[in-house]
Amino acid sequence: MPNIFFDEAFDTGAGLHHSFSWDRLGDIKEGRGDLGEEVPVLVYRLLQYSMNHVLAEEYGPERANELYRKAGHLAGGELARNVLDLSLPLDAFVAQLQEKLRELKVGVLRVESIDEDAGSIVLTVAQDLDCSGLPPTNEVVCSYDEGFLAGVLEAYTDKKFQVREIDCWASGDRVCRFQCSAGDSAHT
Ligand SMILES: [Zn+2]
Repeated sequence: MPNIFFDEAFDTGAGLHHSFSWDRLGDIKEGRGDLGEEVPVLVYRLLQYSMNHVLAEEYGPERANELYRKAGHLAGGELARNVLDLSLPLDAFVAQLQEKLRELKVGVLRVESIDEDAGSIVLTVAQDLDCSGLPPTNEVVCSYDEGFLAGVLEAYTDKKFQVREIDCWASGDRVCRFQCSAGDSAHT
C-alpha cells in the first residue's frame, strides 16, 4: 500500500527514521523483554511537554499547537487504519473506539451529542492522558488530541474534520470536550 507520508518524507530528503507509519513502531513486545509494553504516564508527559516547550520556543505557541495537531492527526489516522474496524456502523464504531482508548489508557471517551445531518459531534474525554490533573491556567492544551480525533474521524468517514477543544482540565473543567465538525470529502 502506498504511504503518502513516506513519499513526502522521501521527497524532502528526510531519513527513514523521520518518516512515520504504523509498521515503523517496531516489535515492542520483542524489544522490551521483561520491561514490557507499558510506561508510566509521567514518561509520556515528559516527552509531550518537553517537545511542546521546544517547539513553542522555536516557532511560537500557535505554530507549536499546529504541529502537535498535525502529529496527532497522523497518529490518529494510522491507529484507525491499523487497529480499528472502519466498516462498522457508527454506533459500533464509536463503541469500538471507546474500548480501544480505554484499553490503551488514553482516556474515557463519551459522545455528548451527535448530529449526523450537520456532521457535528461533541466528544468528551475524561482522565485524558495529555492533561488530566494539570493546574488550571485558563487554557485548552490538547491540540495533539484535536488532531488525533480528526485523524480517526477522517479515516472512518472519508471526510475532512475540524476538531477543536472547547473545555479542558487546564481550563478548569473535569473533562476535555471536543467539538468535531465535518467538512468536505478528505480527497478533494
Ligand atoms: Zn484537555
